[in-house]
Amino acid sequence: MPAPSPSVLRVALPVPLPRLFDYHPPPGSPAVPGDAGRRIRVPFGPRELVGVVAEIGAPDDPAQPLREALEWLDDAPLLAGELAASLRWLARYTHAPLGEVLATALPASLRRGEAMPDTHAWAWRLTEAGATSAAGLKAGGRPQRLAALLAAGPRDEEALELAMEGWRAPARTLAARGLAERFAIPASQLAPAPQAGPPLHDEQRQAVEAVAACTGFAALLLDGVTGSGKTEVYLAAIADCLARGRQALVLVPEIGLTPQTLARFRARLGVPVHALHSGLGDGERARVWAAAARGEARVVVGTRSAVFVPLPDAGLVVVDEEHDGSYKQQDGIRYHARDFALVRGKALDVPVLLGSATPSLESLQNAVSGRYAHLRLRHRAGVAKPPVVRVLDVRKRPLEAGLSPELLAAITSALAAGGQVLVFKNRRGYAPVLLCHDCGWSAHCPRCSTPDRPHPMTVHAGGRRLQCHHCGHRASAPPACPDCASLGLQPQGVGTERIEELLAARLPDVPVLRIDRGSTRRRDALEDLLGSLGNRPGVLIGTQMLAKGHDLPNLTLVCVVGIDEGLFSADFRAGEKLAQLLIQVAGRAGRADKPGLVLLQTHHPEHPLLLTLINGGYHAFAAGELAQREAAGFPPFAPLALLRAESQQADPPMAFLQAARRVLATYATRDAAGMPTLLLDGPVVAPMPRRAGSYRAQLLIATDQRPRLHGILDTALPEIHALPEARRARWSLDVDPVDLY
Ligand code: ADP
Ligand code: ZN
Ligand code: ZN
Repeated sequence: MPAPSPSVLRVALPVPLPRLFDYHPPPGSPAVPGDAGRRIRVPFGPRELVGVVAEIGAPDDPAQPLREALEWLDDAPLLAGELAASLRWLARYTHAPLGEVLATALPASLRRGEAMPDTHAWAWRLTEAGATSAAGLKAGGRPQRLAALLAAGPRDEEALELAMEGWRAPARTLAARGLAERFAIPASQLAPAPQAGPPLHDEQRQAVEAVAACTGFAALLLDGVTGSGKTEVYLAAIADCLARGRQALVLVPEIGLTPQTLARFRARLGVPVHALHSGLGDGERARVWAAAARGEARVVVGTRSAVFVPLPDAGLVVVDEEHDGSYKQQDGIRYHARDFALVRGKALDVPVLLGSATPSLESLQNAVSGRYAHLRLRHRAGVAKPPVVRVLDVRKRPLEAGLSPELLAAITSALAAGGQVLVFKNRRGYAPVLLCHDCGWSAHCPRCSTPDRPHPMTVHAGGRRLQCHHCGHRASAPPACPDCASLGLQPQGVGTERIEELLAARLPDVPVLRIDRGSTRRRDALEDLLGSLGNRPGVLIGTQMLAKGHDLPNLTLVCVVGIDEGLFSADFRAGEKLAQLLIQVAGRAGRADKPGLVLLQTHHPEHPLLLTLINGGYHAFAAGELAQREAAGFPPFAPLALLRAESQQADPPMAFLQAARRVLATYATRDAAGMPTLLLDGPVVAPMPRRAGSYRAQLLIATDQRPRLHGILDTALPEIHALPEARRARWSLDVDPVDLY
């Protein structure tokens, strides 16, 4: 009988192949079960890769010679327990290779193989010698003053920073004489004293009690109008969680994680709050991840990818603005942070609190059907009243930069009354199109256009520059029409820059600030801009960036312009997105003691979406929309997956998707009522048929139930991978696509 072959390491590697790779352990360290979850460096073809040991086991193919792994990168598993199990679930759900999922979950420096970073903070104390003698320190000198400070007890460096300017030089002097020493303390010991919040109103208290009453996993939807005090509920629930000695994770949308938000959390919780967002460097991101893994970080507030932090002492997960589109990762591993937060909450057996003034139809349906607890905050907190919303019919009205005379008059009188005004326009730049008035030529992006679908370049800088908002391609505007040499080139339509130009000229006495991705590239730029305005009368012109996050107590008028195209989009989620945006923008008005007015300028005042929203509010709209989705077989009633393909050549994406469709079609069956259980829509060219030079197409896959969708994908994907056409296009699968783009 041959000896049983020794165990091998089955390693998840960040390569796009749906399998693990077998290696012998590095020389001198036999594989043991406790190795699962450790990072390891391995040879891969001519390269070296960093992977994570997924399993210890028998080799896939005992006859095949295996290579030896090069070196262990961790002494103990980095990915273990709940997080490892949840990430395996995510790999199955997204039908993505485990190695790529693990690489997505790890901070970049850990993915590259760097060591887990140091997470300690530092403090200073007197040595025994320092405590017993002043040892010739000059009275009143800086070293003597620092020694006197430390005589009262050790101080962390942050506290020293506050207590004594320029303390580092005297500290070095004391250390050199053996009188003081520096020592590491856990970061969690740096605790500012918490400030009290406002007393909670009844609905807030009931919500906090509902969270506190959870003894394990539960999903709770905090459905509260804008300004109703949802953040106060989060803060109270987190304080509760901390009091029980547990960690809390708070997810916020990318543009919601402002210094203002963080300052509010820091001031109120009395523990250090660790922030995790795209503005941090790799080193800082890894430090926060490590601090969470060591249980030192008690509260982590972060954007999408913060859903991957380890939570050994988890007590609560909060997802603020749970409807926000930025929770969905749009490339690579296409996870949804809200959905994955729920999976983790379940695995961790802790409550997950989802909050929004405009819940996603998915979450609302779960609340209506009783799967989620439905917590309502129906009124604004404190003295604030709901804003009054009025529709301005602009049919046949003369428009200047897209603004009607009535709107301009309302802006002037709001400013005269000492208030601030927000003009919302969801299109940045000067104008969406540059058109030749003589021959009809218009400027198109060479990298995104196709012969039958030209994609216009947006005009910027008052007409001097052109930019494609899809691929970033830039050009200067031609001085004359390239087709007919006419000088009659005209920017058509309205963007935020054009509104800024008009209002700045019309209102010379007040600040007119434009806020969009063009004007506020830096993370803190928005804060600085708003800070410079203060409470003075002034006008803010902005895109979606202004729809949330910032409390502007003196904002009394919100003008919404240019929403009409959103009323007629083909995307089945367009109505939901527009309704959410309108409610969120409107919610900026009248957040303090001054009443707010919202003016909605439209050419379609009778549109059902606007009528329902204004007369019945978001919930009336959502009820109607859910009924339509159910009738049409769309999410949340029927799950979707989208197969996308792209290539620099025009044909391979379609050829691949046609072949994939043939594979998938073999799994089509009918249910008891004779209805098809699998619907394939396409392949069709993508709504944006070409982007940044790539031709794009897509195939929509719909089934009646989620297990069926996953069952079909499980068996069909290996066949699709093996198609010869699959090698000629770049393709990806998106389960639960948010944008069908
Ligand atoms: P949301 O997150 O629902 O938009 P916030 O929690 O930011 O609302 O609260 C909106 C405003 O109301 C904030 O200025 C907040 O300080 C205030 N607020 C919240 N709860 C109360 C309360 N119970 N009493 C008085 N003011 C409150
Ligand atoms: Zn022309
Ligand atoms: Zn382009």
